[in-house]
Amino acid sequence: MAIERTLSILKPDCTARNLTGEVNAMIEGAGLRIIAQKRLRLSQDMAEAFYGVHRDRGFFGDLVKFMTSGPVVVQALEGDNAIARYREVMGATNPYNAAPNTIRRRFASNIEANSVHGSDSAENAAIEINFFFREDEITG
Ligand code: ATP
Ligand code: MG
Repeated sequence: MAIERTLSILKPDCTARNLTGEVNAMIEGAGLRIIAQKRLRLSQDMAEAFYGVHRDRGFFGDLVKFMTSGPVVVQALEGDNAIARYREVMGATNPYNAAPNTIRRRFASNIEANSVHGSDSAENAAIEINFFFREDEITG
């Protein structure tokens, strides 16, 4: 299996309920290494740019409002098959469809406030990690 990196975001519903530690324990328990991490508040511009691919979707305005409503924790994760592995650990976008013992099944409130983001392809992972981290902020 290939060692990959993926970009993770613990969303505002997650930080609001002090769940950073519990989610990080699930990430590390799944064999993924947190090789970079910082907590920040997304600006409107950053949220719109990050989720630009969803600009034409009906939920875009609400999504940007939600993502800027409180602090987030952004992380670069590394491990075997990290992109698919993290999406497995996250569970389905809609927590009602998420498998047991996934982050979203355990913690997400609804399809919007769904606790975490994970990159969906190797190409997007590289773009998204680069969006938040300089090379010298990733220590491995
Ligand atoms: P993410 O990109 O955050 O990892 P995802 O890849 O599972 O999640 P996407 O389809 O990329 O899901 O949607 C991005 C985010 O937009 C979702 O995580 C969720 O917060 C929000 N979202 C998606 N679909 C809806 C919807 N129908 N109504 C409200 N919000 C939605
Ligand atoms: Mg997505």
